Amino acid sequence: MKFTVTSAEFVTGSPDIQHLPTDPHPEFAFIGRSNVGKSSLINMLCARKKLAHTSGTPGKTRMVNLFRINNRIHLADLPGYGFAKAGKSIRESFEGVITTYLLDREQLRCLFVLIDVRLPLQAIDLEFMKWLGEKEIPFAIVFTKADKLSRTELEKNLKDYTARLLRWWEDLPGIFITSSLKQSGREDLLNYIGELAKTKKP
Ligand code: GDP
Repeated sequence: MKFTVTSAEFVTGSPDIQHLPTDPHPEFAFIGRSNVGKSSLINMLCARKKLAHTSGTPGKTRMVNLFRINNRIHLADLPGYGFAKAGKSIRESFEGVITTYLLDREQLRCLFVLIDVRLPLQAIDLEFMKWLGEKEIPFAIVFTKADKLSRTELEKNLKDYTARLLRWWEDLPGIFITSSLKQSGREDLLNYIGELAKTKKP
């Protein structure tokens, strides 16, 4: 069923999960490497130009920023991740706030892992997704900046990317192709969120 955003507001930013609201709204989190287009995507979903940027207080990039849509669903903007530190486990490489949030935030229904559609599968993203699988954290992939490729390039990249993923998994996670510039992919992603929000957490 079509999901329409009727209201969207910034709720809070917190460097840890203890200070996040405890209300039971189903929550959907967004993560990706810096510059992947996370703020732009959240703004597109909320149909607000500067919601994700303007929530900023100094150091906001190390915080979980929470937005509420339609007074009943939370979107969580997680800190961007950068480089896996050689020889360190995911748990050690990723910020404590990210792993704590993903492992302990009861309200989390699905994590959207943002990937720049122009790039081939990166080691850090693969490691991260493998870790999500191990921990049974439900996730889907959102490819960003689709407008930057021609249709043929886009199809080729997606084919290569999914072929690489299938070396690790029998089934692919949910996959969304978006462009915040062209406002594409919004409806599919919102409908997915709307449907998941209706279900009870497994
Ligand atoms: P964040 O660091 O992941 O929050 O990324 P931003 O949303 O701030 O975007 C990083 C840069 O990519 C900015 O210059 C955006 O204008 C650009 N960008 C984000 N999404 C898109 C998109 O869908 N298409 C294009 N062409 N550029 C985008």
